Amino acid sequence: MKIIDGKQLAQNLRGEIAAGVESLKSEKGVTPGLAVILVGDNPASVSYVTAKEKACREAGMLSREIRLPAETTEAELVALVKELNEDPAIHGILVQLPVPKHISDKAVIDAIAPEKDVDGFTPVNVGRMMIGERCFLPCTPHGIIKLIEFSGMDLKGKHAVVIGRSNIVGKPVAALLSRKETNATVTLCHTGTPDIAKFTREADVVVVAAGRPNTLTGDMLKPGAVVIDVGVNRIPDATKPKGFRLVGDADFESCSKVAGAITPVPGGVGPMTITMLLWNTLESARR
Ligand code: NAP
Repeated sequence: MKIIDGKQLAQNLRGEIAAGVESLKSEKGVTPGLAVILVGDNPASVSYVTAKEKACREAGMLSREIRLPAETTEAELVALVKELNEDPAIHGILVQLPVPKHISDKAVIDAIAPEKDVDGFTPVNVGRMMIGERCFLPCTPHGIIKLIEFSGMDLKGKHAVVIGRSNIVGKPVAALLSRKETNATVTLCHTGTPDIAKFTREADVVVVAAGRPNTLTGDMLKPGAVVIDVGVNRIPDATKPKGFRLVGDADFESCSKVAGAITPVPGGVGPMTITMLLWNTLESARR
């Protein structure tokens, strides 16, 4: 059984991205710039944006860090996004989700210019992805495809099962896996699927993105399957300094006994999500 080391793959790709940033600076005098907006102080969001900003600086990019109070209005946030749309130093705009409840995610995402939508969340980018046009691929799904390739699996003709149908993970992963250049056969499972194990036991690859620990267990797998565990769940743990530990959606212990390869949590999908954000920001600055 092989551990698919997301940190290692992320490090390899970040080296390539940093080299790309250097050549863009020296050849065209352009420094890729990413604006990261956080509204409020949700602890998980604070740690995500801090990691994104650090990675951005380490890659030699400009990181514009914007922290707004939780009481920021939707109109203020939309106005800020529109200002950044016009700012030539900024090539990518990221609004960390979720935003506070009085602000509509949709209104904010819709305000981001598609050419600066490095998260790949705007309807224009999603539509372009679906019809195979040039676009920014959403970061987590794109990172998942890279991880499967890194595991050594050629997806052509393979059966992939995706558990979860969210707009940011499950649906786009299923779309990317079934593109002609990837050519996997895809089954998308969700809470309306009566017997998920029936599908996963026939799968060469299982991507689990349900947001619930133990959604996938070893008895649900075909021997040798590749498992990509997207879930990030906080489990109370008094022995840890922060009082919790992170687990995925797959039961690592039982799955690792049957799988051929599996991503750990943490250290699997997470580092790749940030890496693909840098990838898109560099791509945006090159355009
Ligand atoms: P989400 O919006 O809550 O969607 C979860 C999906 O899983 C829904 O479609 C839901 O089905 C389905 N689901 C939930 N429980 C299920 C079950 N028992 N059996 C089958 N399907 C089930 O979550 P998300 O945003 O996709 O995120 C999923 C997980 O990935 C979370 O733990 C999140 O923190 C993590 N995540 C990690 C990264 C990263 O970079 N590492 C990035 C994004 C998300 P219904 O549609 O029927 O409700």
